[in-house]
Amino acid sequence: MTRRYDLQVHTDASPCSSTPPERVAQAAVNAGLDGIAVTDHDTLTNVDAVREAAPDDLEVISAVEVTTTEGHLLGLDVTEAPPPTDPLAVVDHIHDQGGLAVLSHPFDTLRQYYETDLEILADAVDGVEGVNSRCVRRRFNERATGFADDHDLPVTGGSDAHFPMEVGRAYTRIEGDGALADAIRDGRVRPGGRGRFFSGHVATKYHQFRTATGRAMTSLASGGFLRR
Ligand SMILES: [Zn+2]
Ligand SMILES: [Zn+2]
Repeated sequence: MTRRYDLQVHTDASPCSSTPPERVAQAAVNAGLDGIAVTDHDTLTNVDAVREAAPDDLEVISAVEVTTTEGHLLGLDVTEAPPPTDPLAVVDHIHDQGGLAVLSHPFDTLRQYYETDLEILADAVDGVEGVNSRCVRRRFNERATGFADDHDLPVTGGSDAHFPMEVGRAYTRIEGDGALADAIRDGRVRPGGRGRFFSGHVATKYHQFRTATGRAMTSLASGGFLRR
């Protein structure tokens, strides 16, 4: 039996996403996924809401994408967002909760990425995200997969969706039954889907533009310019 989980999905609890929890759950169903990890930036605020909106046959993993002082780090099966601090401390915080730590788009130099400590981190983490659909250059994902292979680490995949259309573009295939965490620890996972989707970034820019325009209009209005 093979299941497909998208292990990196954002909701409107992330500043760069405007997708409410119900639409995230619906998008996952539409994409035919068996599970998703809700990985908002430094918060678990919307995990319960996605879970409530999800049908019984869609597993919702409580997760977070932590902004470390270097790259981003996924904490899977966590109940609390670790303080955004240095990567090793974040990994410890995740492990103390019984969760798994996975390096998120570690070599995407167009986004926040890891510059140092990767060798030490390789010993500490439980996996590496090898396919992230928002990595616009093929080599970012290739380097991540190569790094995982060199260090004998399981490789996961996630869309990094910030908008419903992106959910399921990359995912993790899980061989066999049982919990996701066990499958990762046993190395029964491999990534699927692909990177190099640009449309998500375009949508993000549009979202940022609208948010900024909305703020400008509000401040103009509160300044009285639009009230007259
Ligand atoms: Zn990220
Ligand atoms: Zn992300």
